Amino acid sequence: MMAQYLALKEQAADCLLFYRMGDFFELFFDDAKTAAQVLDIALTSRGEHGGAPIPMCGVPVHSAEGYLARLIKAGCRVAIAEQTESPEEAKKRGGSKALVARDIVRFVTAGTLTEEALLEPRRANVLAAICPVRDGIGIAACDISTGRMELEECAPEAMGAALARLGASEVVAPEDWADAPFEMVPRPARSFDSARGESRLKDLHAVATLDGFGRFTRAMLAAACGLVDYLDHAGRGKLPFLLPPVVREAGGHMAMDEATRASLEILSSTTGGRRGSLVEAIDRCVTGAGARLLAEDLSAPLTDPAAIRERLELVSWFHDDPLLRGDVRAILRAAPDVGRALGRVVAGRGSPRDLGQLRDGLSEALRLRDLLFARADRPVLADGLLPSLGGHGALVDLFARALVPAPPTERGQGGFIAEGYDAALDELRRSAGNSRRAIAALEAKYRDETGVAALKIRHNGVLGYFIEVPARHADRLMQPDSGFTHRQTMAGAVRFNALALHEEASRIAESGGHALAAEEAHFEDLVGQAVARREAIAATAAALARLDVAAGQAERAAEGGWSLPRVVDEPCLDIVGGRHPVVEAALAAKGERFVANDCALSSHDRLWLIGGPNMGGKSTFLRQNALIVLLAQAGGFVPATSATVGLVDRLFSRVGAADNLARGRSTFMVEMVETAAILAQATERSFVILDEVGRGTSTYDGLALAWAVAEAVHEVNRSRCLFATHYHELARLAETCPALSLHHVRAREWKGDLVLLHELAEGPADKSYGLAVARLAGVPAPVVKRAKAVLDKLEKGRAATGGLAAGLGELPLFAAAIEAAEEKVDALREKLDAVDIDSLSPRAALELLYELKRDI
Ligand code: ATP
Repeated sequence: MMAQYLALKEQAADCLLFYRMGDFFELFFDDAKTAAQVLDIALTSRGEHGGAPIPMCGVPVHSAEGYLARLIKAGCRVAIAEQTESPEEAKKRGGSKALVARDIVRFVTAGTLTEEALLEPRRANVLAAICPVRDGIGIAACDISTGRMELEECAPEAMGAALARLGASEVVAPEDWADAPFEMVPRPARSFDSARGESRLKDLHAVATLDGFGRFTRAMLAAACGLVDYLDHAGRGKLPFLLPPVVREAGGHMAMDEATRASLEILSSTTGGRRGSLVEAIDRCVTGAGARLLAEDLSAPLTDPAAIRERLELVSWFHDDPLLRGDVRAILRAAPDVGRALGRVVAGRGSPRDLGQLRDGLSEALRLRDLLFARADRPVLADGLLPSLGGHGALVDLFARALVPAPPTERGQGGFIAEGYDAALDELRRSAGNSRRAIAALEAKYRDETGVAALKIRHNGVLGYFIEVPARHADRLMQPDSGFTHRQTMAGAVRFNALALHEEASRIAESGGHALAAEEAHFEDLVGQAVARREAIAATAAALARLDVAAGQAERAAEGGWSLPRVVDEPCLDIVGGRHPVVEAALAAKGERFVANDCALSSHDRLWLIGGPNMGGKSTFLRQNALIVLLAQAGGFVPATSATVGLVDRLFSRVGAADNLARGRSTFMVEMVETAAILAQATERSFVILDEVGRGTSTYDGLALAWAVAEAVHEVNRSRCLFATHYHELARLAETCPALSLHHVRAREWKGDLVLLHELAEGPADKSYGLAVARLAGVPAPVVKRAKAVLDKLEKGRAATGGLAAGLGELPLFAAAIEAAEEKVDALREKLDAVDIDSLSPRAALELLYELKRDI
């Protein structure tokens, strides 16, 4: 057995090997140690290998999914080695000592899951394959739980942003790509071959040319080859569900790099989870598929105004008609996850329950179609979705007749084909039922005959049906002519068989076996029917998701008093009464009110410099405007009284010196790398928010950089930009930059306390209130007092030398330091004055030289 185990393990070196033994998956050696630790289960040992005991642990097959989920989450990969023959077959093949043959049937990895229990319902699960070609990067991505597949090619510098958008749970790449800037599963380089990629896709979709699907570049096809090869490997030759690939065009979506996504906390907050993220604050979808599509919309807002308007029109329709919205959402709520059920069914991992979900989901889709069909005022997008909602009448009818109302997840036990669907099956079940009744009758008869009232007919997996009596009555059945044959003596009970019982039991076993076989055949047939219509069913799933997103956005808008944005072509941003959905919700939870603020950028006033106290709401204001742009272009209502959004091609969000130690760069380095990216990429159509750029270094350096960056964004990039800063000195930029204006968040000191108004006003900030905020935060009074004294001194020094306003060339913020230096110079001068050079001996002169050098 160990030889067999080790041979299998060799094929799965980078995986934990689940080795099937009866009702358990066993793990051995280091695999066992890892699994025992991750799963917190007992580590035991068994036998010996090379003189040492073999560490071992195991999980029951029937609950393996839960354990798998935890291992995958912990970053492990798992190979499943199943028994490929029964013990009986093994015996027949090689005698009583023969080892059951086993083989790896599947590799379970984060990107290749389809099981309901292993997937998060509201999150897509993306597998990506990336491959560099001569002057670009090919990217293939799929979510095999729903079959979606997309291909793109991008420039090397855009790869990070593309990966950030995809949010893949597993990425495969050629193993010879040594300096790939992401964590990857290495695959043989020959697995990324464009010619083979093309032929694999053609085979997969049974077409002679891919032209019907779009125009694919060699880079895309090479990546597609890597992806399909990997899926093939993971499924051991069994490919999962893949829809025809869709090309993602460069420029079709608003570009956002990884740093921007992270800082705007779109899909997950800085603390890591969905909590506190944008998507959590706006997701009102009633289905998992809707939530997944919403996340996708937010990850890739559109840049085509017509497409944005179509989405908005649909949301508006649902927004303005609460009754319609309620009806649509009620239907959607009843619809199971058709896309994922289909994914499992096509992958050959479907269960009767999945077929039931297809039936229920598709029939809800039909209801939805009828509901929308009855409305004459349908928007264009709804109209386009209508055909996809229907067309499954025959399949739904068939499934409705064939399946019981709530089919089980296990198909081995049967019981999922409905009565009346197959007369022969019904007959088999009837005969088994008759026999069961006959057995019940036998029990009464045997009690009568033997006079043992405690006699029972029981059933277990080993003996089948048997008669059991308490040991003290066993004698009566032991008589040679009693008609009972002894089978087993237990503590306190004795078990028997009888001819009539045996006959009925055989009848049950036989009809039961036939019935199971019949159900199995029906199952295969139903699966075949669904598979044949897979693309149409996937389209229905997509249509349901789109309607859910739109109705959910409308619901959210109604709930929060949001408004329909106007998306225009001019580079403007005109927001009245804008709010930050996440901060607003957090404040509401504490019973506090959010103060709405306006923003009005245009081509002649496109850079707002925003000052004001710490905690005053600068960052919130910056982000809320970026989020409003993002929401509008994703095709949703926005948290504002009104909003006109000039189309944005790229969105940038930067926070000064955000910690990113995980990436192994100093905070200031990160800040500068990100700033460099903005200056290199932002265009006249971009929207940039810069939050305290330059704060991660010394005051002079930081101020100088902030100054130069603001100037460059104004002069060179000419993007719309909100720039929050604590450097009052930057206010001077308004004198030289005509499209820059000054703003501040208001605060007031009242009876020595700081009152933050969170209200944006025009003009420069008067002071920074840093010390007042420190006091508010509980910095001890003596420290604040000392800081005040230092501040007074510094400010006096600044006033004496004319302050920074005199020009950037002389930045005398640290007058105190200069003062100290001057004192030293004076002392030296005094010392030199006191020396009579002519009377010094050579030795004394030398000593004086040493002394002066030391003092300096
Ligand atoms: P710092 O300069 O210290 O980074 P900041 O000016 O950027 O501060 P924010 O981080 O935006 O300030 O806001 C601080 C807190 O003030 C928020 O967490 C929120 O609780 C509150 N706040 C911000 N904006 C508003 C608003 N418009 N209405 C009500 N409360 C707000």
